Amino acid sequence: NREIHLASRPAGWPTEANFRLVETDVPTAGPGQIVVRNQYMSVDPYMRGRMNDVKSYVPAFALDAPLDGAAVGEVVASEAEGVAVGDTVLHGLGWREYALLEARAVRRVDPSLAPVTAYLSVLGMAGLTAYAGLLEVAAMKPGETVFVSAAAGSVGSLVGQIAKLKGAGRVVGSAGSPAKVERLKALGFDAAFDYHDGPVRESLRAAAPDGVDVYFDNVGGDHLEAAISAMNLHGRAAICGMIAQYNDTEPPAAPRNLALVIGKRLTLRGFLVGDHNNLRDAFVSDVSGWLRDGTLSYDETIVDGIENAPAAFLGLLRGENLGKMLVRV
Ligand code: NDP
Repeated sequence: NREIHLASRPAGWPTEANFRLVETDVPTAGPGQIVVRNQYMSVDPYMRGRMNDVKSYVPAFALDAPLDGAAVGEVVASEAEGVAVGDTVLHGLGWREYALLEARAVRRVDPSLAPVTAYLSVLGMAGLTAYAGLLEVAAMKPGETVFVSAAAGSVGSLVGQIAKLKGAGRVVGSAGSPAKVERLKALGFDAAFDYHDGPVRESLRAAAPDGVDVYFDNVGGDHLEAAISAMNLHGRAAICGMIAQYNDTEPPAAPRNLALVIGKRLTLRGFLVGDHNNLRDAFVSDVSGWLRDGTLSYDETIVDGIENAPAAFLGLLRGENLGKMLVRV
């Protein structure tokens, strides 16, 4: 069994030297337990925060121990009722080839309904984050203009498409390369820009000349500042993530225009996907319908081999992914 340990805590941008590939024995299941052969694991931006030794809404990763995170795999041993060898399960012990789990800590998924990777992307945390953030937290209404940053990523690409499917008037996305901008247009975004092409404020004004009603923030910094300036009266921003500052060693300065929130009566609302499980049934029913009739697309960037999981995570932070970044274990 090969697994990836956190060898040291990164200061600023992480590097491969912060990770260590470790060989251990394949675990054996005790009473109530199962062993899962992982097939795919997720790498996610929030994992960067867990590499710091600070208190947060999820505990920090321990040093010299395997990292963890969402994974899907096949049950290869079971000493538990209700989970059988051969079942495909979703669970929280990625970053390793074989995971030992209490049976109650896994969720069985049906590989005939959707490819197993979908449970880590469009039908998983990223999908629910997009759905809940847009429809519940920002309460998007039909006809409104929506702006989403990191729009070619896993959450962002779904935000833009769900906005269109729910009747948004105009959907604008920003992303980090010309190829990603092209992809956004193919996905049905009304306008998209590469944030390297000029100040976000100017690109956004050109892409949303009538202003923005809903901003779905994945990036923070200049993007949030530009969105606040572009927002219309009574606009709402769902503050989902601020990836632009995850590797910063100094506290950020922007948004310098935060006071505009007052005069514009804006709602900027932070949220965690875990508080929105009430939406799960509506989310699964809407998204599986859109997948069935082909109106919703999801991109995945798959890196091969557990030994390349650190490189996949670093690539995610640098924007090497289109859609969900996954590792084929
Ligand atoms: P993505 O698939 O969007 O991957 C991250 C992307 O961020 C990269 O592809 C890169 O694309 C972009 N990026 C990296 N650095 C910068 C930067 N400095 N400025 C602008 N863009 C940058 O990841 P996810 O979809 O998993 O997550 C998106 C956001 O949502 C993250 O901020 C994450 O923390 C947050 N999140 C929050 C949750 C919650 O419950 N609140 C749940 C899940 C995710 P590019 O090439 O365009 O730069």
